[in-house]
Amino acid sequence: MVLGPSRMFRDTVVEHAYVGLTETGPRALERAVRTTLGNPVAEHSKRLVHRLFGQRNPMFLIITVALYLGGLGVFVSQATTYIPNRYLGAYHWMAIVPVISASMFSYAMACMSDPGIVTKANVGAACRRFPYDNLLFFRKDCRTCRMAKPARSKHCSVCGCCVEMADHHCVWINNCVGLGNVRWFVLFLVSFSTVCVYGAVVLGTVVLELRHMHGLDRTTVWDADAGMNVAMPLRRSLLVLAHMHGTLCGLAILLALLSPMVAAFSAYQLWILMCGYTGNEESKWANIAMAIDDKVAFAVKMPDGSSMIQAIELEDQEKDTREKRLVESLAELDNIYDLGVWQNLRLVWLGRRLKQ
Ligand SMILES: [Zn+2]
Ligand SMILES: [Zn+2]
Repeated sequence: MVLGPSRMFRDTVVEHAYVGLTETGPRALERAVRTTLGNPVAEHSKRLVHRLFGQRNPMFLIITVALYLGGLGVFVSQATTYIPNRYLGAYHWMAIVPVISASMFSYAMACMSDPGIVTKANVGAACRRFPYDNLLFFRKDCRTCRMAKPARSKHCSVCGCCVEMADHHCVWINNCVGLGNVRWFVLFLVSFSTVCVYGAVVLGTVVLELRHMHGLDRTTVWDADAGMNVAMPLRRSLLVLAHMHGTLCGLAILLALLSPMVAAFSAYQLWILMCGYTGNEESKWANIAMAIDDKVAFAVKMPDGSSMIQAIELEDQEKDTREKRLVESLAELDNIYDLGVWQNLRLVWLGRRLKQ
C-alpha cells in the first residue's frame, strides 16, 4: 500500500497489486454485491466503508492500542522474570523501559496534537511560512475550506480541513500527519521500530533461557539414521517450547515479522523528510517524474513571464500553441523546500514553533 504508487515500482507486480487493492478490486466487489445482494445492501456497505476509511473514526486506533497493550501484557507477565538471563545483562532494563515509554508517549502525542489545521485565524501566518514554488504548489484557494491554500498544505477529505505541510492521513493514529505533529509521528516510528527489533532480540534470549531451564539443550533424542542418541536439534527444542510457551513465542515471532516492515517504513519516512519532502510532495514529484519519462512534461511560459510545469498529453502537444519547452530530466527542476538535511530536520522538530 505504501510503495504501490511510487515510480520505482511502475509497471511491476507491486503497482498492479496496489491498483487491484485500491481500485479494480473494490469496484469489482461493489459490482458483485450489487448484483448478488441488491442495491440497498450495496449502498449500506458503501456507507460503512466510507465510515471506516473516509471519515475520522477510532477503529484502527483502538486496534493499535489493544495490540500494543496486549503485547506489553504478555511481555510483563511472561518475560520479565527471565530478564536478566545468561544472554542478557540487567543493564538492558535501562534501555527497555525508556524505549517502551517513548513509543507510548510519542504515539499519544501524534494522535492528540493538532497536525497543523489551517483556520481563519492562522491562514495568514501559514501562507507566509513557505513560498509557492509554482511547480507543486500554486497560489489558490481551497474550494472546500473557502480559504487561501498555503504552499505545502493539503486538504484532507477525512479530517475535512487543510493541513500545513501535510504528509498523509494516518488511520493508525486517526489523525493527519503535518507540520504540527510530524515530530511525534517520526519519534513514534523510530521508537516503535526499536521496540520491534529490540523486543524480538530480548524475547529471543528469553526463549533460549527457557530452553536451558527446561533442560532442552541437554536432552538427547534417538536418531534412527545414526542409530544412536544425539543432542536435541535447536529447531525441535524451539517447537517443544512453542507448545509450552505459545503466547510468548507468538509475540517473539510477531515482533520479528513486524520489524523489517516497520523499520523500512520508518527509514523511508525519515529519509524523505531529511531530503526536504513530505509524503504528499514525494508522490507529486513521482507524478512529475513519470510525466518526464513519458515525454509529456513541459515548462510552459505564463503571461507574467514565469514558467509552470504542466503535463500535456501527446495528442494535445501539436494543438497547444503556448511557448513551451520539454522537460527532459528531474535535474532541471528544483525542490525549493529542501534546505539541507540539518535545516529540514530542524523544521520537522520545531514545526510551527520555527520562527518565520
Ligand atoms: Zn481545505
Ligand atoms: Zn486527515
